Amino acid sequence: MNFTIQNVLILDGPGYQTVDVQVAVSDEGASSIVAIAPNLEPMGRLIDGRHKLLLPGFVNAHTHSSEMWQRGIIPPYPLELWIAELYEFTPLKPHQIYLSALGTAVETLLSGGTTVVDHLVIIPGLEKESVKAAIQGYREAGIRAFVGPLIQDEALGASLPTGGTSVDLAPHYHGTPELLQLMEELVQDYHRPEEGIHIMTAPTGPQLCSDALFEGCADLSDRYQLCRHTHLLETRAQNMLAHEKYGCSVVKHLQDVGFLGDRTSLAHCVWLEDEDIQHLVDTRSTVVHNPLSNLRLGSGIAPVLKYRQAGVNVTFGCDGSASNDSQDLLEAIKIGTILHNPTDLDYRHWITPREAIAMASLGGATGLALQDQIGSLEVGKQADFVLYDLTSLSLLPRTDPAGLLILGRPTQAVDSVWVNGRQVVADGQPTQVNVKTLRQDLFDHSEWATNRTSTMASEFEIRYRAVMGL
Ligand SMILES: [Zn+2]
Repeated sequence: MNFTIQNVLILDGPGYQTVDVQVAVSDEGASSIVAIAPNLEPMGRLIDGRHKLLLPGFVNAHTHSSEMWQRGIIPPYPLELWIAELYEFTPLKPHQIYLSALGTAVETLLSGGTTVVDHLVIIPGLEKESVKAAIQGYREAGIRAFVGPLIQDEALGASLPTGGTSVDLAPHYHGTPELLQLMEELVQDYHRPEEGIHIMTAPTGPQLCSDALFEGCADLSDRYQLCRHTHLLETRAQNMLAHEKYGCSVVKHLQDVGFLGDRTSLAHCVWLEDEDIQHLVDTRSTVVHNPLSNLRLGSGIAPVLKYRQAGVNVTFGCDGSASNDSQDLLEAIKIGTILHNPTDLDYRHWITPREAIAMASLGGATGLALQDQIGSLEVGKQADFVLYDLTSLSLLPRTDPAGLLILGRPTQAVDSVWVNGRQVVADGQPTQVNVKTLRQDLFDHSEWATNRTSTMASEFEIRYRAVMGL
């Protein structure tokens, strides 16, 4: 149904403008912004935009939805021990995957996101069911979703540096050809870009994947026009391992195996050398900055100001809820914006609130090769946008709405959300999801966990402490 948002505030250069925004929605469900100007002839349903700010939807550009089941519980560990505990207690029922995808979608929508990138942990033996369940959740919530099954062809123990000692590792339970075959089937079954559901190729990361897997994923991506996603140099240990494994820059190595490109987004990028930055520039790859996860796991501070100065596209992700431990995209954007100020004395390099908004919206869309379709308020683009209530207590008194939205602590500020012209949040509530039922389901399928201990983390700890010199 066509609609017009009247008298709404939008960003206009360094200032603001009050306009009407008209959207046409076809019977098939395709949307297009047809006009943005003051005092337009009313068209379709009329929405009062007074005292509201309209921004393009943000992209939650890296998360792992099913980690929601373990948020708040894993002790203060570095990634290598944290992940051992995470995997030991990972959910094993597709219904849990469905519920956590739904929860991730709702939290993303209510914190300014219209797109989610789910680097989805799949249940061994129920790989397709896992993907199906997550997609069901995203379709129900009405969010645009990129689902990249987290695949690896090496055992978890391979992710630790050896320190020069030989380590016996069992082969991973999935072989490379089997994983690539699975991916191809998932693409055929679920990749529906016109419906806002995308499958992406997403090997876990160089620490757990062979060159053959990266090459196979790049090939699938070329054949089906899929986005590519992976973790890259998140921790000190991964940096050490990369030197052991490749003997050269892992970034250059990924470029050589054909995985980098303008449809590639790379989560974290904390430990890149200065020379590596040029490889990102040359390949037009996108960095996904996950500041809260990097702090929570002690991974480090990604050199985001350097990336931006070199011309690398950078956007934001929450990362999974077990290393964050929430899915509040506005919080991730705030911390990801101000975290870098102490790293550079020249405050002219610091990220401004308006730059943060552009990184989270157009930057996110660019990382998914959708910059021509979404990511900004422009005539001809699809209607993925968010209406913020400027009378929310957290956005008062009236100062600079964009500045306060990014640097403040907005609560209940999202009034309405549209994804491809369909309203999926109204009056601060999801329109497609019964949140009361979701809360009850999440409650019923979990229990307070006290005194949980992880055998796997304890085993990994011995090797980790030795190799890291602790
Ligand atoms: Zn991750």
